[in-house]
Amino acid sequence: MSVSTSKAISPDSGEHWTEPGAFRVAEGIHRIPLPLPMDGLRAVNVYAVETPSGLTLVDGGWAIPEAREALEKGLAVLGAGVGDITEFLVTHAHRDHYSLAAALGTEVRARVVLGSGERGALAAVRRGGNGAIAQRLRTSGALPLVERWSRIEQPTHDPAHWRDPEVWLEGDTTVAVGERSFAAIPTPGHTQGHYVYADHEAGLLFAGDHVLPTITPSIGFEPVNGGTPLRDFMASLTRMRALPDLRLLPAHGPVAPSVHARVDELLEHHEHRLALSLAVIRANPSTAYQVAAELPWTRHEHRFDTLDLFNGSLAVMETLAHLDVLVARGVATRVPAPDGDLFSAG
Ligand SMILES: [Zn+2]
Repeated sequence: MSVSTSKAISPDSGEHWTEPGAFRVAEGIHRIPLPLPMDGLRAVNVYAVETPSGLTLVDGGWAIPEAREALEKGLAVLGAGVGDITEFLVTHAHRDHYSLAAALGTEVRARVVLGSGERGALAAVRRGGNGAIAQRLRTSGALPLVERWSRIEQPTHDPAHWRDPEVWLEGDTTVAVGERSFAAIPTPGHTQGHYVYADHEAGLLFAGDHVLPTITPSIGFEPVNGGTPLRDFMASLTRMRALPDLRLLPAHGPVAPSVHARVDELLEHHEHRLALSLAVIRANPSTAYQVAAELPWTRHEHRFDTLDLFNGSLAVMETLAHLDVLVARGVATRVPAPDGDLFSAG
């Protein structure tokens, strides 16, 4: 998932977007990258929005000491501290967005806001286990991956990092942030309960992981089953195209000038992957695992068997999501089978 350096320079800092600090992206709005050690994404952008009563943060980071330290240093640049945070608007319930918001929210009595579609995911993490992912991999015919997951020791999750938020968002709504008004827009796909926040007055979209400037967001990697992740994701991208064009403030990667331009690229990418997947099942009826093994992966076109367990699993689940879309479009059929559902063209 590495990207060329020039593309990864953020215009607000003039440096690689992962460089620590606090960078002004607009009047009263600052980007603070927090580290994600041992994660290919490298960092997550948290955005601090100044209000008369304190700071609203969009996303919270991962609850690890390195991230908390980087957040404190970033806020210090603004002459503030964690005690000034009054609210976290979280885009979705992945650990690198939610867990530090949950922990700090409790500590400094800041309210945490999250889409209600993430209810099941939070509860599933608190229960522990990779059951839903194993089930989807089994449906995909990826039995070797299921076997490898079963041999991995489950991490223990601190329930304080996965508590419910103070506010569950439902449907399209608005959130007052000081004198600003953010449109909170449900954008299921990356996760079922993902939200983006649009500041139309300032021309900004806090996009979370829905629209990323240099990589394609993973689809449906969550501890619950349900939904039709790629169909939902593409519909959610189309929703962004229907808004006025905004500057892209992503959770991973540099700030970019146009949400629309990136949405067009992402939709085109998925149409291309759909065509490749259809070509594979036209040649031979296949499981999602077999289709994934035939396709190139990442922008460097890696072979499937060179991916690690985590990325290989993401690849299989994404392929299953593509095949689901082909079935929904009426160009493929799906026959359930115990060792993996079989997809064929027609
Ligand atoms: Zn995510």
